[in-house]
Amino acid sequence: MNFISTRGQSEPLSFSQAVAIGLAPDGGLFLPEKLPDISGQLANWEKLGYADLCFEFLRLFATDIEPAVLRGIIQKTYGGFSHPEAIAPLKKLEDRLYVLELFHGPTLAFKDFGLQLLGNLYEHQCAQSGQGITVLGATSGDTGAAAIHGLLGKPKTAIFILYPEGRVSPLQERQMTCTGAENVFALAMDGSFDDAQRVLKEIFGDHAFSQQHRLSAVNSISLARVLAQCVYYLSAWLRLPAAERVNVEFVVPTGNFGNVLSGWLVSRMGVPIRGFKVATNQNDLLHRLFTTAEYRSSEVHASLAPSMDIQVASNFERFLYYALDENPARIRTVMAELQAMGAYRFDMLNKSTFSSSRATDEEITGLIRKVHERYRYIVDPHTACAFKELSPARISVVLATANPAKFPDAIRAAIGGAPTHPTLEALKSRTIVKHRLPADAGAIKAFIGKRAV
Ligand SMILES: *Cc1c(COP(=O)(O)O)cnc(C)c1O
Repeated sequence: MNFISTRGQSEPLSFSQAVAIGLAPDGGLFLPEKLPDISGQLANWEKLGYADLCFEFLRLFATDIEPAVLRGIIQKTYGGFSHPEAIAPLKKLEDRLYVLELFHGPTLAFKDFGLQLLGNLYEHQCAQSGQGITVLGATSGDTGAAAIHGLLGKPKTAIFILYPEGRVSPLQERQMTCTGAENVFALAMDGSFDDAQRVLKEIFGDHAFSQQHRLSAVNSISLARVLAQCVYYLSAWLRLPAAERVNVEFVVPTGNFGNVLSGWLVSRMGVPIRGFKVATNQNDLLHRLFTTAEYRSSEVHASLAPSMDIQVASNFERFLYYALDENPARIRTVMAELQAMGAYRFDMLNKSTFSSSRATDEEITGLIRKVHERYRYIVDPHTACAFKELSPARISVVLATANPAKFPDAIRAAIGGAPTHPTLEALKSRTIVKHRLPADAGAIKAFIGKRAV
């Protein structure tokens, strides 16, 4: 299987090549050349455990990795999750309402599903080529922690994560800075998250530097992440009672559109799913898109659900590719207009299977309280957004994207107390190792240059 760019001006690449370079050279995002039809496999997959299901699914795409090797990579990836019998447990809250818990990985958020796999794929590539890799990313929280834990202690790799000093939560900072691993560098930068992104762009723009250190970007558009995330939708669907499956709506706390896109791709591959609900916080770019058909970025306002505080849904281009009849020329036109005008009006979104909702901070607090009162179940502020306006006509599966223990302040404000988690408690007694640097590409390149592999 080869992978093509949404913008149609790059050569098709193998799975491993596409994973290694991340963004296509023409600026587009990678997608499978042709989506497989998996509808005929579903009955055979019903009894499989999570890792085996993941293997059967990924082998359709990662055809350039030997099956036995791929199986090993996947077993290693999901062996580190704390819920081995159910990596992504599906819990029933009441009739017609389920929660899919995606927070049992090492950093307690759903990003571990993609980034643990990506880390093991990088390790495999390094072993094969004999060359090292230097991973670089900027984070406002969860992605940095998950990326670091995907590469922790792996030979021939180094990971540098830039974050704005003082602007990530204390627990998130500890997840990045208390690892004790020698190949991890947490760079606490002066300035904002936008400054960190700008610096990152400048560093990757220096091609000589980037090639010399074999820099690879870690971000939300990785193909491996999108495919890894497909598997928990499949797993949940297969575990639902057969009579409920065709009427299921997945309700997804959404920022960059990466998580929900994976589910939608599964439905495109022939799995009968009724719909997807995109749950946003007050940064409601996507809610406005699905209600007005206009994509228009505005300013980001910090919220109680910080991992959804975005104004550009970077994975949306992948959905657009299919919505625009797989026509790369049209994608190029739309993306150019979006770039120039900051907005685009669509006329084809009406017939899609998406609905959406928006929750303000006040509503998030109220929803955490309501869910706790009604079900004795605690949701984190991101997951809380998904409990706004559940459709009574559908079987709802809410994706729980983070462990509530990661957000003690928001939970305490809602229900008076907050849950704890042993992984997070253990971090509190460990030493913080971080490197303070100015928001200056030159200074950061010098730092990386001395420590890259
Ligand atoms: C990243 C994140 C999201 C948003 O996911 P996208 O793939 O960007 O839509 C939601 N909840 C949590 C806890 C996250 O870390």
